[in-house]
Amino acid sequence: MSPDPSPLAPLDEDWERALCLVAHPDDMEFGAAAAVARWTGQGKSVVYCMVTSGEAGIDGLDPETCREVREAEQVESARIVGVDVVDFLREPDGILEYGVALRRRLAAVVRAHRPEIVITGNFRDTWGGRNLNQADHIAVGRAVLDAVRDAGNRWVFHEQVAEGAEPWGGVRAVWAFGSPQATHAVDTTDSFDAGVASLEAHAAYIEGLGWENWDPREFLEGMARSAGSRLGTRFAAPFEVLPMGWGD
Ligand SMILES: [Zn+2]
Repeated sequence: MSPDPSPLAPLDEDWERALCLVAHPDDMEFGAAAAVARWTGQGKSVVYCMVTSGEAGIDGLDPETCREVREAEQVESARIVGVDVVDFLREPDGILEYGVALRRRLAAVVRAHRPEIVITGNFRDTWGGRNLNQADHIAVGRAVLDAVRDAGNRWVFHEQVAEGAEPWGGVRAVWAFGSPQATHAVDTTDSFDAGVASLEAHAAYIEGLGWENWDPREFLEGMARSAGSRLGTRFAAPFEVLPMGWGD
């Protein structure tokens, strides 16, 4: 018998604005879209920013065509969960590098949207066990953590401030979905269907994966059920919580 999985604590929902900063179209839908649907349903503002357009993600489609297809799918996917703003930074898919250049771009996005919560994907080396994470996810997640701090310091990437951006030090936490080190979760029982529809909106991408008999609902249900059993709800979305203030 395997040991009881550790319980997950309920996420803080006392906030108004979240920014989701992820590497690829579809990243949100594989782990967090149902949570987003819950929050927009509560009247919170959630915006998406994709660092790449996932243009290297479909083997049979050249990147120029693929970019258009995937951006359109992402915009529709966001709309389904109540997100009206989707930014695309159009950095190169598959070969993102963690570093100052990426931090600079992400800090500008944080300064522009002034969120209280920043959501990103798993940036740990694995998904748990031996399934390796993907390089873009690791680069983006690490850069997000730094960019959130950079955004609050007027002397870091000062050219943005000189051009009129205000520093923003109001991010209270970064939440990473899909992390093997999840500590918290949110009940997604009532918003689960919206999350499924949001993933299904990536039809060309899912088709391009060529996974035989792969069912988005079944896939999401497996993850949501196991997190739900740790939170004490039917379905849940798990997050690793990284506090960005002092004294949390
Ligand atoms: Zn991805």
